[in-house]
Amino acid sequence: MTLAEPSLRPDRLDTLIACPHCDCLHTLASVPVGATARCSRCHSVLLSPRRGAIATIVSLAFGALILMISAVSFPFLEIEASGISSAASVIDAVTAFAEASGMMAPLSAIVGALIILLPVGRLVGIIYALGPLAMGRQPAAHAGLAFRVAMRLRPWAMAEIFILGVAVALVKIVGLASVEFGSAFWAFVGLVLLIAAKDTMICERSIWRILARK
Ligand SMILES: [Zn+2]
Repeated sequence: MTLAEPSLRPDRLDTLIACPHCDCLHTLASVPVGATARCSRCHSVLLSPRRGAIATIVSLAFGALILMISAVSFPFLEIEASGISSAASVIDAVTAFAEASGMMAPLSAIVGALIILLPVGRLVGIIYALGPLAMGRQPAAHAGLAFRVAMRLRPWAMAEIFILGVAVALVKIVGLASVEFGSAFWAFVGLVLLIAAKDTMICERSIWRILARK
């Protein structure tokens, strides 16, 4: 369905919705579950409510959180060359910069925040904001704030960038040494996939409308 052209009366501004791609204004309509509202100019998706979407988002976030715990608890990679082997965990990768002196040391805190703390913070925020809704209850106190923070942190949570960096590094060293993937590596790959699936499922406007109604 395509939303109607807007009425620009000052007292009706809260009934307007702007297209995130071309800024075209539309009148906010009630979109049935399963339907998709598109921009009348560029046909981008504006609203797409799906049955059970919140329960799916919470399940994916919970699964990703469990995989993150596994990813930091178990060995990540084991490298062997000329009879010498070395195993490293994600925590080892984060603290590697702290062992260097000078300007590199603060990088440990930054890397730890970007690949572990911020992704975990986002997942906890989403579970806190949407978990009660998935169980048919009223949202918890400050659920809107938790959801807003989780959405704003999205560009800074870089677990997927980390796994991409690891993949590029492995291509470089695979000819020089034998590399074995630890269980944490697969947990990290799994959590990146779950986070991507969760972010795809989230229709931010639909969730804000549900939170505003409660
Ligand atoms: Zn548009």
